[in-house]
Amino acid sequence: MEIGASWEPEDSATGKTARNGLEHSLVPAGNEATVIPFARDVTMYKLLFFLFFSVVMFSQTANAQDPSQWVKGNLNDLVKLYVHFHKTPELSFHEKETAAKLASELKSVGAVVTENVGGFGVVGLMKNGDGPTVMVRTDLDALPVAEATDVPYASKVTTVDADGNTVGVMHACGHDIHMTTLVGVARFLAANQDKWQGTVMFIGQPAEERGMGAVAMLDDGLFEKFPKPDYALALHCNSVTPSGSVSVRPGYAMANVDSVDIEVFGRGGHGAYPHTTIDPIVQAAKLVVDLQTLVSREVKPIEAGVVTVGSIHAGTKHNIISDSCKLQLTVRSYSEEVRQLLLNGIKRKARAAAISAGAKEPEIKISEGTPSLSNDAELTAKMKKVFEGAIGAKNVLDAEPVMGGEDFSQYGRAGVPSLMYFLGVVEPRKLEYYETNEIAPPSLHSAEFAPNVEPSLMTGIVTMSSGVLELLKK
Ligand SMILES: [Zn+2]
Ligand SMILES: [Zn+2]
Repeated sequence: MEIGASWEPEDSATGKTARNGLEHSLVPAGNEATVIPFARDVTMYKLLFFLFFSVVMFSQTANAQDPSQWVKGNLNDLVKLYVHFHKTPELSFHEKETAAKLASELKSVGAVVTENVGGFGVVGLMKNGDGPTVMVRTDLDALPVAEATDVPYASKVTTVDADGNTVGVMHACGHDIHMTTLVGVARFLAANQDKWQGTVMFIGQPAEERGMGAVAMLDDGLFEKFPKPDYALALHCNSVTPSGSVSVRPGYAMANVDSVDIEVFGRGGHGAYPHTTIDPIVQAAKLVVDLQTLVSREVKPIEAGVVTVGSIHAGTKHNIISDSCKLQLTVRSYSEEVRQLLLNGIKRKARAAAISAGAKEPEIKISEGTPSLSNDAELTAKMKKVFEGAIGAKNVLDAEPVMGGEDFSQYGRAGVPSLMYFLGVVEPRKLEYYETNEIAPPSLHSAEFAPNVEPSLMTGIVTMSSGVLELLKK
């Protein structure tokens, strides 16, 4: 997920200082005690014993249970899987090992697995008699972020990026939580086949962070080679809500994301003789100010929109007027009407700035990103009730809409009623500390993002499993 403005820390520098003094005092001992041993020196004998123990546990807990009973008896093995995913992150379009691991996990619970769908995409079908098809989606990719948490299983992975730079790699967006949750749901459903009827379509989607994986899987025939689902469900970590909770929102939840590149032209020359030039920097500066009136004066006040100039570059030194100036914009909206209004307005204002300066037409390139995410109202209402029954009404919050982007929206656009809901991952006492001290918790994509693993996994697995059971009930 691309993070929205409201999820960004207001002052990450302050947050970092305060947090560093806090990690040890607020992480409950029980949490570390359960998570950490898997990450430390596990000898072969211990591992074998653990595997044997897990098999015994699995068969014991394989009797019909509700999701929350089941997850309590099966969490340790899933935490171990989470640690594995966390320690072995891979960047977008490079999710080879991650996809293979997810595929083998799905095969081991009896799903029919197809690999390499739209790149490293994984599709696992679990059929259990006649009935609807429910798609459950996880993303697979990590980010070029060097992890700066103090968890003992922190990623030490580095890789060389497209520019030849060595970069750290980290699951800083929580996709490791999403993958582990999906495997937990698959294990639960496999062990409780008497409770549901129909088909579950598990998908592991690559390249979410680049906004391209969902389209790649759809273009590779996701809904033609495999059954087109009747419903699609996904969750995403939320870095500002407590672990143990989820948040849900019908309708628009995330934005249309467009990128615009503008190059305005002038006529270069000596800084001491501006009358012999057309100054592209003055032209660009006027344009930047004029762009601010699009949202404030042209979009209906109750509609949402963002136009941000994130980059502006021109010139080489003090006394040279350059030939051109380049601007890069991100443009956010929910509705198609507002999207078109903003993009047309940007073109109009860029041309107007050029005419005003007596310059030639600017070059404008619009690159479409992800479309807005709209949660199906009926499905959302149904799932909200199910979640309330599963984890208690007080733990089901109303999600705030954000202007971040998420390519899960592509499945909804392809005609599948879909819901993405948000999984709280912050330890409640930490959250209280942040709130009291007016510090923003580490956001998604932050090097310090460290979800509260066990309760987050439990809540994710219980809510998602309960949702699938409801949609595939006998
Ligand atoms: Zn992300
Ligand atoms: Zn994400």
